[in-house]
Amino acid sequence: MYIILKPKLLHLTKDIAKVIAIIISGFLLILAMIFIKYKPVYEITVAGEKLGYIKNLKEFKKEVEEQIINQQEKYIANVSFIEEPTYKMKLLSRASNENEKEIIEDLKLNNTIKTYKYYEISLNNEKKSCVDTLEEAEQIINQIKVEFSEDNLELNLQISEKYTEDLEQINVDTIEVATTVVETAAQEIKEESEAIAIINNVKISVLPVTGRITSRYGESSSRRKSTHTGLDIACITGTDIKAVSEGTVIFAARQGSYGNLVKIDHGNGVETWYGHCNKIYAKVGDKVKAGDVIAAVGSTGNSTGPHLHLEIRINGVTVNPQNYVY
Ligand SMILES: [Zn+2]
Repeated sequence: MYIILKPKLLHLTKDIAKVIAIIISGFLLILAMIFIKYKPVYEITVAGEKLGYIKNLKEFKKEVEEQIINQQEKYIANVSFIEEPTYKMKLLSRASNENEKEIIEDLKLNNTIKTYKYYEISLNNEKKSCVDTLEEAEQIINQIKVEFSEDNLELNLQISEKYTEDLEQINVDTIEVATTVVETAAQEIKEESEAIAIINNVKISVLPVTGRITSRYGESSSRRKSTHTGLDIACITGTDIKAVSEGTVIFAARQGSYGNLVKIDHGNGVETWYGHCNKIYAKVGDKVKAGDVIAAVGSTGNSTGPHLHLEIRINGVTVNPQNYVY
């Protein structure tokens, strides 16, 4: 039986091999035809939206890392995708193009959240300015510390690292601007610490003259119609009269019993008046600083001897100067 069947079986096996060979060749031919017309690509979609095709997934991911995730901008702390892109292998007609570069740009523009890092500088627990780098913040703080080292001030300067996704909301300053802002704030603290008194936020930092008090606020006298509206300080004629605080000269002329009078408006409703002057140096409209000489002591108007009549007014009402000075 075996002997009889053997040639037949052999013949059959050869036929099967032939068929298989034909099938394989056919398959390869079809595959070859497909590859002539089509190429394998990766389709990229984000949140269901097709962005395009890329050739090499590994290289694309490398580009994404380099150009998007590890962006080398100084204040970017982190970049992440809003939606993770998905990749699907597809066959694409060889006539069509991949668009790696555009996809990267698209992802960069429309599908990333950037977290920015910046440094906030605070002075005595009040936020003053923000800068890009720790180096800048440290440089500013060191500069301010040196500048005010001899002033024996309580300057608590702090740097804190902060993060934001919306840099436009932050107002990061250049190092020059930040230095000026912190410097001004420190200067204000210095002035406040040096102020003799503060009236409605107006810092009185200079005494107009030094001398003997001869008549106090509120005193009655036969020489006056009403009680005394200011404080009299006796000095020799010609003594410099200094502005007690910065402000604008709003009056500089003779005014009845005041004699030669200078009025300075310090803002916030605060005015100081300097009466009986021998000479007036200031002019209406002058911007004066604390300590500027505005007039000379005299005895003009209703006066019996050279002295300064100092008056302090808040919203037009006289107050006792000795609540603040002398
Ligand atoms: Zn007086």
